[in-house]
Amino acid sequence: MKVTFLGTGTSHGIPVIGCRCAVCTSTDSRNYRNRLGVWLHDETRSVAIDVSSDFRTGALRHGMRHLDAALLTHAHSDHVSGLDDLRIFSQVSGKPTVLYGSEQTFGEIKKRFGYAFEPPKSYGGGAPQYDLRLASEPFEIAGWKVTPLPILHGPEPILGYRVNDFALITDVTEIPESTLGLLKGLKILALDCLREKPHSTHLGFQQSVDYAKRIGAEKTYFIHMCHELEHVATEARLPPEIRLAYDGLEMELLG
Ligand SMILES: [Zn+2]
Ligand SMILES: [Zn+2]
Ligand SMILES: [Zn+2]
Repeated sequence: MKVTFLGTGTSHGIPVIGCRCAVCTSTDSRNYRNRLGVWLHDETRSVAIDVSSDFRTGALRHGMRHLDAALLTHAHSDHVSGLDDLRIFSQVSGKPTVLYGSEQTFGEIKKRFGYAFEPPKSYGGGAPQYDLRLASEPFEIAGWKVTPLPILHGPEPILGYRVNDFALITDVTEIPESTLGLLKGLKILALDCLREKPHSTHLGFQQSVDYAKRIGAEKTYFIHMCHELEHVATEARLPPEIRLAYDGLEMELLG
């Protein structure tokens, strides 16, 4: 299974429109962060985690040809705004695109993308088609074992996902004990690290480091970073097993 980070930034993306700070004007491409997205794939399988408005850019950059399913963490705009762009996959395959998520996420999606569920006549068959599947229990996608990971995003319960020995936990303030128990033996963890200080709905730098150490994946990559966290300077403060993800970062996961 190959893990490709399509986007690693917070909701504004980096650079932030109009900002002239050192990170937003950096010439190091690792400081250029699209909105969050990870693509898990091999020769036959293709699964996205979250579908931001930058999804299309990442899919084109990395040559995505089809999509078996998208796993949705929650329905905040920076995680689902690209759902309309999944139309092409169902147009090519003739099948609706499979989305996994929580009941709350699907409730939001039905409001926001109402035209996909009750297409206006003017769409002439061009509306997106989704096959919504509740991620309440572990399930498999073509042999990959997927475990939904209940976490807290401030007051809101949302989901992370474990796929084989990779897990993604974003937009998190608290990982309950029961979920920590589902994270044993991880090879790679992608973990929220919004900024230096804690935030009401995200982990700050030291909290992310503490969770990363507690979970103890072979390697942890921070994601969903804002423009406070410069790539090189932030990595210099981290132990070698914790790194910052960047757009286009790819790794192979065996087994
Ligand atoms: Zn900036
Ligand atoms: Zn969020
Ligand atoms: Zn977010």
